[in-house]
Amino acid sequence: MTDSGQKEKMMTHLEELFGFDLEQARTFISFFQDEMKRGLAGNQSSLKMIPSYIGRPIGSEQGEYMALDLGGTNLRVLTVRLDGRGGASVTAARRFTVPQSLMHATGHELFDFLARCVSSFLDDHSSKNTRSRHLAFTFSFPVVQNAVNSGILLRWTKGFAVSGVEGKDVVAMLADALSRQCLKNFRVAALANDTVGTLMAKCYADPDCDMGVILGTGTNACYPEKAGRIANMSNVPENREIIVNLEWGDFNRIEQNIFDQALDRQSLNPGAQRLEKMVSGMYLGELLRLVLLNLIEKGVWLNPEQRCHFQRIHSLSSEHLSRAEAGEDILSSMGIPGTTKEDAALLARVSHIIAARAARIAAAAIAAVVTWMDENIEKRHSIAIDGSLFEKYPQFRTNMESMLVELYGGRSAHFDLCLTPDGSAVGAAVIAAVAAKTYTRDEEWVGDS
Ligand code: ADP
Ligand code: MG
Repeated sequence: MTDSGQKEKMMTHLEELFGFDLEQARTFISFFQDEMKRGLAGNQSSLKMIPSYIGRPIGSEQGEYMALDLGGTNLRVLTVRLDGRGGASVTAARRFTVPQSLMHATGHELFDFLARCVSSFLDDHSSKNTRSRHLAFTFSFPVVQNAVNSGILLRWTKGFAVSGVEGKDVVAMLADALSRQCLKNFRVAALANDTVGTLMAKCYADPDCDMGVILGTGTNACYPEKAGRIANMSNVPENREIIVNLEWGDFNRIEQNIFDQALDRQSLNPGAQRLEKMVSGMYLGELLRLVLLNLIEKGVWLNPEQRCHFQRIHSLSSEHLSRAEAGEDILSSMGIPGTTKEDAALLARVSHIIAARAARIAAAAIAAVVTWMDENIEKRHSIAIDGSLFEKYPQFRTNMESMLVELYGGRSAHFDLCLTPDGSAVGAAVIAAVAAKTYTRDEEWVGDS
């Protein structure tokens, strides 16, 4: 077989391995809803369906709140003003990068870092914003809540392995760290997941919003559910709406190919977060690296001496995929000499294959949740989406939309995928405002139904 014939055969094989066609999407949706049902009923399920103890805002909440948003790659500290008419504006913001070393440090060290960031933010903005003392904490890891301002970390994800935090209340840990920094006046009013924050932020101005989705370092989603359909919620009125965090990154009824399996084996959490490892920003670069190494080994791409450039685990990121797909010469920018246009074209194609699957799976997961709420997709659903993968990967949205068109034809127009940048952070402020009138650890239910 000619070189190019062998290359083509290999690419077709990869397309099959990473394929996620209409039939697979339909099966996925049915399994996904099955797991949702089990999770809601409190049965064993890969979808944890964690109640957030908070409902959607009505748009009239107002005040100024401070938010701390820990996503995975970034930490953001900001103040947000809610005008009571659906308008939310960030009045001050600062971004910090979480140092790699802290991802393997002790809980004490990590939370001290968070508190120092708050302190340094206050130093910068003290003149304007010293009044705000309600802090909302967006903490985007699987947490089981028993009140809006308390939650126990189930397990770390997204490369974090900080000791002494799993099984602990992260609000209490933050409050302790704040008082070690002499920020004793702060009250952590609400704890939220970034998905819940994103939904809340969008919903504050758009009542049709009934889903929050994260497509960033990790991936996850939430939607409003009737309390009566959630197990162990007898303390909340049946018709009360509670936002449920799916923790869909852990969904596991989806087939892994050999590259997914290799990635999983070498990860910090083998067996867990199966869907996240196929979809989110943290893993797409690694999938690409594993495929490229395989292509070098098979002799269909570059040559064996160039293997060294792809040896280091996590040396490629999802940005490499999007830049390659956009036609940038990333091989030269990685310092690999003597590569050809064909080499770059193949890299772009592999990137497309991996990222298109990610987008199609994400769209199918959204479809599963939307059709759970509205079986025949009769009304408009605005889906608030936050995260750099969705925001910055040029074809990600288009690939998601074409999956929805394949699934539902014209009715797919009822899915409105809305980029909600800053959603998780702005939403934290909305959560703090809603929390003020609902349910906290020390109080009885004081909601209005
Ligand atoms: P977080 O998840 O910490 O809140 P982000 O939403 O910014 O942070 O997501 C970070 C993830 O997005 C990283 O995995 C990063 O590789 C990916 N990313 C950032 N920029 C791009 C881009 N231009 N194309 C594709 N992926 C990107
Ligand atoms: Mg984020």
